[in-house]
This record gives sequence, structure tokens and C-alpha cells, in this order.
Amino acid sequence: MSAKEVMLNVQQLREFIRDIPDFPKKGIIFKDITPLLKNGPALRFACDQLAKNFEGFKIDQVVGIESRGFIFSPVLAYLLGAGFVPVRKKGKLPAAKEAVSYALEYGEDSLEVHLDAVKKGTQIVIVDDLLATGGTAEAVIRLVEKLGASVLGLAFLVELKFLNGRERLRNYRIDSLIQY
Ligand code: AMP
Repeated sequence: MSAKEVMLNVQQLREFIRDIPDFPKKGIIFKDITPLLKNGPALRFACDQLAKNFEGFKIDQVVGIESRGFIFSPVLAYLLGAGFVPVRKKGKLPAAKEAVSYALEYGEDSLEVHLDAVKKGTQIVIVDDLLATGGTAEAVIRLVEKLGASVLGLAFLVELKFLNGRERLRNYRIDSLIQY
């Protein structure tokens, strides 16, 4: 049987997400997506479902957020016939760049994108593995909008609804496959 023929639904995808308590620090329940990633049918189903949400949209680029956002964003770009733009952690990109600082559920960080990666009027979708407080996604929206891009929506594999990230990003279209 091919991976496509294996029947899966979104409800079943939940079984591939593993809770790791107190990682990376006490009090955090880390949603580990590696059981899903290592399963062919589950990975394919998740990528196809994420892309389905944007069928019929004219998308120029999919912007992925380092690190786990990089797992899904190039696949989505490929499926949607769009380009892929990496938003990377401080100090990783070699050419001229724009930066933004943001607060995480645990800690603080800054993200960067190449100045010439996104042009004025470019239609983009932002992708990450998980939406928690929405701080990271909000920072990336600020970053790409500063460069003149138009954000059509944001896609996440997992959404932690109780952290209200969706409310923080209320002016944008949000799609998530698995909610907690
Ligand atoms: P936030 O900015 O609060 O929406 O956090 C989202 C970012 O932090 C994503 O890049 C996630 O990969 C990561 N993250 C936050 N909370 C968790 C969690 N409980 N489990 C796994 N990843 C998380």
C-alpha cells in the first residue's frame, strides 16, 4: 500500500504528537513532533493538509521560521509552486539583512531575513511548526511587512489555543491542523 492509500484524518494526527514535560525548562510541556515526522503517511498527510488551506491563493513565497518551521515551509512552497524564504536566528544569514526582536514562551530572541528576499507587494504565507503565544509569528509579520510584503496567512501544524496566539494575530488568516 502506498503512503497515499493509508487512511488518515486530522484527529489521528494528534496521536503522533508527543508531550515532553519540563522541556526545555520546568513548567513547559513541549509538543514533540518527531513521531509525526518519522512516519511517512503522517508526514505526507500533514503537509498536504497544510497546503490545502491555501489552494487557489496566488502565493509568491512561503516564509519559514527557523528551526522547526523549516521542516514544513519548503514542502509547502513546493506544493504551492511558490518560493521559500528562510527567516533565521541572529547571525546566520550572510548577506544584508533586516532584524526583529521578540519574546518567546520561554526566553527572548531575534530573527533576521535577507533584505532582498522579500520585495514590495510580494504575497506571502508564514509557516511554523507551532503557534503558542504568537510572539514569534507577530515578529515575523512585522519583519516581512517592513520589507513591503503582503501577508496572506499563517500556517501551523500545532496550535496551543489556551495561549491565545490567534487573538494576537487576529488581523490575519490563521490555519492550524492540530489544536490543544
Ligand atoms: P510563540 O512565539 O509563543 O507563539 O512560540 C512559538 C515558537 O516557540 C515556535 O517556533 C515553537 O516551535 C516554539 N514553541 C513554543 N512553545 C512550544 C511548546 N510548548 N512545544 C514546542 N514548541 C514550542
